[in-house]
Amino acid sequence: MAIDPVCGMEVDERTTKDKATHQGTTYYFCNTDCKEEFQSSPEDYIGGEERETGT
Ligand SMILES: [Zn+2]
Repeated sequence: MAIDPVCGMEVDERTTKDKATHQGTTYYFCNTDCKEEFQSSPEDYIGGEERETGT
């Protein structure tokens, strides 16, 4: 199982149609809304990299 980075749900990567690749990593989503949300601002969901706070 994979984890939907937007809502935290478990997603079966073998059956979901909602997936996106970002910087070489494939992410899986429970539905299209989560995928679109991720694609609009992936940095908000993958963390790791330090990001600007931007006042
Ligand atoms: Zn989701």
